[in-house]
This record gives sequence, structure tokens and C-alpha cells, in this order.
Amino acid sequence: MKKTKKYSKIFIVLGDQLTCDSDFFKDFDFKNDCVWMAEVREESTQVWSHKSRIVLYLSAMRHFAKELLKNKYPLEYTQLVSNQNSSLKSELLKFLADHSCKNVKVRKPGDHRVEMQLKDAVSSQGLVLEIVEDDHFLCTSKEFEDHSLNRKQLRMEYFYREMRVKFDLLMKDGKPAGGEWNFDKENRKSFSKNGPDLIPSPVSFPPDKITSSVIQLVEKIFPDHPGDLAFFDWPVNAVDANIALIDFLDHRLASYGDYQDAMWVNQPWLYHSRIASCLNLHMLHPLAVIKDAEKYYENGKASLFAVEGFIRQILGWREYVRNVYIKFMPEYIHLNFLQAKNNLPSFFWDNNTDMHCLKCAIGQTLKHGYAHHIQRLMVTGLFCLLFGVEPKQVHEWYLAVYVDAVEWVELPNTLGMSQYADNGIMASKPYIASGKYIDRMSNYCKSCKYDPAKSVGEDACPFTTMYWDFIIRNEKILAKNPRMGMQVRNMQRLAPNLKLEIASQATAFRLSLNVLK
Ligand code: FAD
Ligand code: SF4
Repeated sequence: MKKTKKYSKIFIVLGDQLTCDSDFFKDFDFKNDCVWMAEVREESTQVWSHKSRIVLYLSAMRHFAKELLKNKYPLEYTQLVSNQNSSLKSELLKFLADHSCKNVKVRKPGDHRVEMQLKDAVSSQGLVLEIVEDDHFLCTSKEFEDHSLNRKQLRMEYFYREMRVKFDLLMKDGKPAGGEWNFDKENRKSFSKNGPDLIPSPVSFPPDKITSSVIQLVEKIFPDHPGDLAFFDWPVNAVDANIALIDFLDHRLASYGDYQDAMWVNQPWLYHSRIASCLNLHMLHPLAVIKDAEKYYENGKASLFAVEGFIRQILGWREYVRNVYIKFMPEYIHLNFLQAKNNLPSFFWDNNTDMHCLKCAIGQTLKHGYAHHIQRLMVTGLFCLLFGVEPKQVHEWYLAVYVDAVEWVELPNTLGMSQYADNGIMASKPYIASGKYIDRMSNYCKSCKYDPAKSVGEDACPFTTMYWDFIIRNEKILAKNPRMGMQVRNMQRLAPNLKLEIASQATAFRLSLNVLK
């Protein structure tokens, strides 16, 4: 078959790689090469994606395409127009069948599945896909391998210290500023009973023309997907992403450290930055974000606790989880150390629950495609862990419902940190707590029909019942972990009758939700 067009090299740009400010383009030949981008149905249906997540990706891709054209990049772009089934593989195959080219290049994809699809498509044409390091990230796979060498166990903390030294961040005379590497203990305050002071609302980005047309498209093609587009206000280009960052640094960073773990009814953002999607789609560069934040400490506009807490998340956790993903995939996605088998309760999709903490966290997730870290870890994640939901189902929910969800960051956080399915690769112990933790960190329990202090009885908090039940069921495994010793001993001190009552109440609760497999 005659090929319609000739290119020397095809530069694939994926929907979460929206920047030209990268070495990736250093050999781009404007006369002979092209950028290839495609909107495909499968990326919205592979998991049942929140409408806001779909709109964010499509709109950001279209904004980026405009920028490429403005900068005179030859661009081959496929728009999603109908219900037609399409995947990155099928679109790339179609394109390669129709165009002759010598080379195809891509930055390391953030999703193993996508990498396999691209490789397959390219190799079926007798070509080799050139996969290069994505210089949006601050640690290369080789550096992480060197870090991992001869370590019995990986821990974020030691990785983070090396990254602080490498980038000379918050360092003074070769030592960590303030004499400590990590001020995590200072980052756990809750609010007084009056709640947070007036928090400036984060800057909002109402849909422009491009986003509005994408919203119409998504409502038409994916009408039954979860989520509500009436509230869509996420940044969809680099300029707005930068405005969102400055707004956070000016108005919320100073209190970020103190209240990082706190939760409050009707306060979806509190002092959080809301920039994860901007970072993950490459609209903001992590090093620029971190350096900007460091200046706020240097200029006395924010405390070391606040700035270190923020930088740790991006320089430490974000880079660490990406490398855990790369190192342990593709096996990682199948791990299920605790053999959890139950189905995800349906209220995760329709929010029909009487547990007030879950109602708040899931409610804002369905409304905005957002919940902050402690809501994800210690409300929805904790529920699934205690309840024994199959980790793969938990993973698919998290990947679907958050605007910032990309598999490289979502999977280790969900399967590892939150569900302990990886037997401690991500976290040194399972993150478990009873309803009393949620009561301490929020005002959710004040208007809940359950009592967080009770483990049995009609008004017992399901978290508290399931917390004890979890330790009873997993006693042998947990007893081997020195960090779980106190919790196991506390359980062992419960009266035998009470233990039986807890176990039977937990089973009845699971049955009532119709999730036992
Ligand atoms: P802030 O609280 O303002 O934090 C600043 C930045 O630090 C974030 O924007 C993010 O880039 C980074 N960060 C913070 N915590 C983490 C972490 N644990 N891992 C990696 N980066 C971190 N983050 C995602 O970006 N995508 C996901 O799909 C995702 N899924 C998660 C699933 C679970 C079960 C858990 C427990 C956490 C998940 N996280 C995920 C991490 C974290 O919850 C979000 O990054 C954060 O809530 C995003 O909101 P923010 O931008 O306001 O963050
Ligand atoms: Fe959640 Fe239990 Fe508190 Fe109710 S009492 S809000 S279920 S922790």
C-alpha cells in the first residue's frame, strides 16, 4: 500500500507528557519529523473514569496541541469524535500503516500497559521504539537502582535524604536546615472544635472555549461515567498551572505543614496545593515547584516545617513511588499479600452510605475528582483495607476517580501504602486505625449516627469494629512486625467474649453490604 506521507522520526507525546521544555525534543528536525498525539477511547474506559479526569486530559492535550502549532511543530493529532473503539495501539498502527518513517521515539510512559501497546504497534511495522528517560522526573531509573543496591529494604526516608543532597535543597553547610531531615511529627495537627480559620478559596479556572467543547463531548460520549462536570475548574495549561501554584504558595503554604493531615466537613481543599494533576500532566516541573517553595522559607514567608513538609511530598514521595512502580512492574499490580477478596461496596460509586466520613470523602471525590492525601489514605483506603476489599478493585477505583490519577503514582500509593498488598515495599507497616483516629483528625464523627469509641452494638462505628477484627484476623502476620506490637498487644488484652462479638459484628456488616465473594 502506498504511504501518504514520509517522516524521518515520529515523536509520540502522551496525554500526561504535555511539555516541550524537555531534552526529548533536542534532536527534533522541524523539516522531517512530526509530533504524534491521539485522543483514544480506551484511556477513558480502561477503568470507569470520572468525567472530570477525562475532560482534564482531553482539554489539556488540545491546549498543548495549540501551543505546538504556535511553535511550528508539525503535528499529527487525532481527536476523539465518536463512540468508535480506539486504543493507542490501534491508532498508532493505523498511522504507521499510512505514513512511512524511520524512527519512533517516546518518553518513558507512566503506564506499563501503554508502553507495551506502543512497543507492539511499532515492532509490528519492523521498527524499534526508542524509549528515553522522561526528564520531567528528578531521579532516573539508574540512580534508583544504585540507591537500591545492597539494601535489604527500601524506605522513602533514605531516598529522600539523598535527593535533598543531590539538589542541595533545604541544606545548610552540608546538613539539613533546622538540624532534622523530616518534620513529619509537626505535620499532624487537627483543628480546634471551631474548625479552620477562614481559608482563602483556591483560584478557580472556569472552562474556556476548548474546555467547554470537551465537556460537551464527554457528556455525549461518556454520559454514564461517574462525576459531575458542573464544578470543573482545573488548570488545563501551563500558564494556569503556574497561577495555581503561586496562589497556593502565597495563601496556603504557610499552614500546609501544620494541617496536612486534618479534615473538615465542607472543606475539600483546606491548605492543600491542588497541583498534582498539573505536575502529573507535566504542566509544572517538580524542580521549579520545589525551588519556588524553598524561596518562601528563605524569605521568611513560611516556616521550615511547612516548606519541608511540602517539598518532602514532591521530592521524596512522588519520585520514590514512581521508581517503585518502574522497579516492580508488571508483577506489582497482581500483589495481594493479605489475600483480601471482597468486592468494593457500591457506595464508592454512588455515595449511598450512612458513614459520614466516607460520605464526605467520596462526595467531594465524585463532585471534584479530588480528595486530599489523608482522606485517600485514612478514610476510603482505610475502609477498604479493614474491610478486606480485593486490592485490584481498590486500585481501579482510585485510578478512575481522581483527576491526578496516573498509574505510576496511583498504584504504589493504593496497593502498597494504603492496602499493604505489597508486604511492605512501600510502607513499613499497614496504615490501620480505628474510628477514633478519624474523630481526632476531623469533625466528621460529630454528625455521624455511629460512635467512633464503640466497637460493638447498634451504634458501633464500623471502622472501629473492623479495626479490631482486622488485627484479630491478621494477628500472626502483624505480630511479626515490630511497629505493630502495641496494637497487637492491645487486641490480645480484649476479653475473649468481646473478640467473638467483634468478629461476628464485622461479618454481619460485610454481609449487609453484600460484598462477600
Ligand atoms: P498536596 O497535599 O498539596 O501535596 C503536594 C504534592 O505532593 C502533590 O500535588 C503531589 O504531587 C505530591 N504528593 C503528595 N503525596 C504524595 C504521594 N503519596 N505520592 C506521590 N506524590 C505525592 N497522587 C497522585 O498524584 N495521583 C494519584 O493517583 C494518587 N493516588 C493516591 C492514592 C492513594 C490511596 C493515596 C493514599 C495517595 C494517592 N496520591 C496520588 C498521593 C496524594 O494523595 C495526592 O498527590 C494529593 O492528595 C494530591 O493533592 P494536592 O495536589 O492538593 O497535594
Ligand atoms: Fe466515620 Fe465512624 Fe466517625 Fe462515623 S463514627 S464518621 S463511620 S469514623
